[in-house]
Amino acid sequence: MLPPSNHVKYVIIGAGVHGLSTAYHLALELEAKGKGSGRDILVIDKSGIAAGASGIACGVVRNNYFQPAMRELMAECVAIWESDAAAYHYHPVGYIQLSPEAMHADVASIAEQQRDIGYDSIFIEGAAACEKYMKGIFHDWQAKGITSVLHEKKGGYANNRASMIGLAEKAKGAGVRIIEGVKVVGFQTGSNSGVVTGVETTQGKITCDAIVVGAGPWVSEVWKMLELPNRIDVCGLDGKLHRDVPMWTFWCLEEGTLGVDPSLGLTNDGTMPPVIHVDTDAPLYSDVDGKLIHDKMWGIYYKPDFNFHGIQGGSMPYRIDKPAESVAVDPYGTQSKEFVTGERFREMWCSALAFCQKRYVGKIGQWKEEPSGGIGAFTPDSFPVFDRFRESVYVIADSNHGYKMLGVGKLVAQELLGTQSRLLEPFRMSRFATGKLHPTSNSPFPWS
Ligand SMILES: Cc1cc2nc3c(=O)[nH]c(=O)nc-3n(C[C@H](O)[C@H](O)[C@H](O)COP(=O)(O)OP(=O)(O)OC[C@H]3O[C@@H](n4cnc5c(N)ncnc54)[C@H](O)[C@@H]3O)c2cc1C
Repeated sequence: MLPPSNHVKYVIIGAGVHGLSTAYHLALELEAKGKGSGRDILVIDKSGIAAGASGIACGVVRNNYFQPAMRELMAECVAIWESDAAAYHYHPVGYIQLSPEAMHADVASIAEQQRDIGYDSIFIEGAAACEKYMKGIFHDWQAKGITSVLHEKKGGYANNRASMIGLAEKAKGAGVRIIEGVKVVGFQTGSNSGVVTGVETTQGKITCDAIVVGAGPWVSEVWKMLELPNRIDVCGLDGKLHRDVPMWTFWCLEEGTLGVDPSLGLTNDGTMPPVIHVDTDAPLYSDVDGKLIHDKMWGIYYKPDFNFHGIQGGSMPYRIDKPAESVAVDPYGTQSKEFVTGERFREMWCSALAFCQKRYVGKIGQWKEEPSGGIGAFTPDSFPVFDRFRESVYVIADSNHGYKMLGVGKLVAQELLGTQSRLLEPFRMSRFATGKLHPTSNSPFPWS
């Protein structure tokens, strides 16, 4: 039910990581500045808390990005995860990126900047040294084609739904109202201007001073309601103008769980290991029948996870070859018939686990037959857009990088109250027109 008054200062669309984090931090900022309280904030979700991508995310929290602006922002976000690990169900086990020679220089530059910003990590170079380092963690390590290891001592992973419920409790504790089962279907504008003055919902209208959009994979729908362009001109890193580029493109993230006892994934000394991310150009053969699966660069990530009851992770996503407007976002996630992982992923990912560690050889029979994975909306350069539109609407469109971005809501809250964030500046919409895009890496993932 909408509140009886049809006016509230701040309406936030979406009870995922961005909507909830913005709500919570905005409540704290309002209180601290004597400008109001959590009662001035209303979060509206068409389904419920964690109903979107935040509720199905693998939950990996890392700093490892080739783009300096992403790294600085992630360092800020990791600090927020660490600030209340219990409430956020956060496991600070660290993160390891293993890479082939084609990515060596990229990862070396990441390691260098991590040193500069004081982000604790170890960088190992050379095939033999990498193998020795990994065998020191897992005695059965056997991955090939690795010439660098970046071990981030911070980061790790969190339990998807539980962390969102923890965050929602914090927001509610600060006075924020969260209404579930109400959908925003349009926006109201001022009579003589294009300024947005409120939202139209399935339960009536509500006027407000400012709106924050944290709609995850539904961002393209909300974008359309805001009458923002679905095609834009992009000045590329090559200096050329690319006309009529789709604003949104969907990718499908393939993930799943090997249903073994998660303890099988522990380290040599019986502790929880870091999250492992392997990219390699060594050929990958099937652990079922020996056929060649990949002969070009490929990558996977995995972790033992007691929440998923097994070894959980994923591989490179695939691009959905349809215009955004014809992609069925609903039913979302594990409810979708179209975008859940299937047989091809199962064989690839389990074979890749066996490629990395001997303990996983022949374990494909224990794959958990349950729907997993989901889709995400990506921007033209696959990096987030954090910006104001129609004067009063702040859109947080994370280009599917965002579960780990717990700190973005705090920075957005500060911007709403007048303090511009240097960390958010590189993510404005204007970068597409000016060509100030983020550098691209040699990783097989669109988000690294
Ligand atoms: C399978 C998968 C694994 C992932 N793993 C990771 C990972 O390990 N680490 C990482 O950092 N990122 C990961 N991501 C990306 C990450 O999950 C998303 O970037 C992030 O959760 C997006 O958060 P959000 O708050 O923007 O959106 P969401 O969490 O999707 O929340 C949006 C909410 O908005 C609501 N909503 C939508 N439209 C309306 C409307 N019109 N009216 C009212 N409510 C509306 C929805 O019901 C939903 O609850 C993964 C994504 C997927 C799909």
